[in-house]
Amino acid sequence: MISRSPSLEHIRPTQMSSNLQRTARRTHSFTESVIREMTRVAREHDAVNLAQGFPDFPAPELLKEAAAAAVRADINQYAITWGAPNLRHALADKYRERYGMDVDTETEITITCGGTEAMAAVMLAVVDPGEEVIVMEPFYENYGPDAVLCEAQPVFLTLEAPEYRIEKAMLEEVVSSKTRAIVINTPNNPTGRVFDQEEMQAIADICIEHDILAITDEIYEHIYYEGEHIPLATFEGMRERTITISGLSKTFSVTGWRIGTIIAPQHLSVAIRKVHDFLTVGAPAPLQEACAVGLNELGPDYYTKMVSGYKARGEVLVKALQEAGFKCQQPQGAYYILADFSDLSDEDSMTFGRRLTVEGGVAPVPGGSFFSDPARGHSLARFVFCKQIDTLREAGERLSAFAAQG
Ligand code: GLN
Repeated sequence: MISRSPSLEHIRPTQMSSNLQRTARRTHSFTESVIREMTRVAREHDAVNLAQGFPDFPAPELLKEAAAAAVRADINQYAITWGAPNLRHALADKYRERYGMDVDTETEITITCGGTEAMAAVMLAVVDPGEEVIVMEPFYENYGPDAVLCEAQPVFLTLEAPEYRIEKAMLEEVVSSKTRAIVINTPNNPTGRVFDQEEMQAIADICIEHDILAITDEIYEHIYYEGEHIPLATFEGMRERTITISGLSKTFSVTGWRIGTIIAPQHLSVAIRKVHDFLTVGAPAPLQEACAVGLNELGPDYYTKMVSGYKARGEVLVKALQEAGFKCQQPQGAYYILADFSDLSDEDSMTFGRRLTVEGGVAPVPGGSFFSDPARGHSLARFVFCKQIDTLREAGERLSAFAAQG
């Protein structure tokens, strides 16, 4: 299904009564993050927070020590705007060793304040007002607002449950002469899909045939249980038209550190770095040093254990949700479960999500917030499982008690 969001046209300055009340039009067509709102609601009602994707277990000791050491060594002033050399070198090593991608440390890497800044900076740097950006839904909630901030038009392409599969024909339908970029998030939040070789090739073909840029969100690149993560930039003809976004938040369980990464061809990086510079100057210097240590020193064992830990957690939560009456399946990657609650309630996702938080003591993110038309996520709720097994078991007991109450 395709929808061209009415994001800009329906806003009229006449809605404003005075200059004091007026806010910029570009802010009118999106809301604050529902994910972070649900975290606030969870805190207020002492609910288990399965809404926002952050671990409730410690970051690796090695990283914490490295961060403390960097602070003590007085790496406390601005890093180079586009990133500390140690981190850029560690990152280039990673891309070469893991994906066979050659990345120039001096001209092609930008370190940002999290993947969030990365996506915003990239869109502001490459998308012009009036152009279109294709966003697949269900989506992680930032992409649409980022396009709107560029005064561009997000064009939504709905992937159908339960497969959430990308077909080339669907992509063909949404491309227009105004399409500037397509956003691809794999492993995917919230569906848990790891798009396969054929789906990625379809995206690559579309980008090349229609001269479109690809902007990827690969923040869960190390977290998958099936298939393989293949960066789109490694597909033939894609390196020069792909902007690869990732970060260390999820890989090292340090979501509060705000270390995002961008790999882009030099001519695009020049523009991205300018936007990044004026938005934030740079990401936290000592934390960049610590992430470099993490990349250099944590070996395959760390990644294997991280993935098996998440797999076990996912199994606990899928079972708990199914026992409570939700329909859901084990995700292929990332750490989210998009569950269908239609056997439990006819309520819309917002009403159900709030009631589950307030009365059931477990906070999800209402499914409606992952779609341009919330009705498409009417009976869905997203639960995260990047939590300790005990936290998930507690949530499971609460979910069963809630379901039993009817
Ligand atoms: N990516 C995480 C989520 O979807 C956290 C988002 C955030 O709050 N930055 O929950």
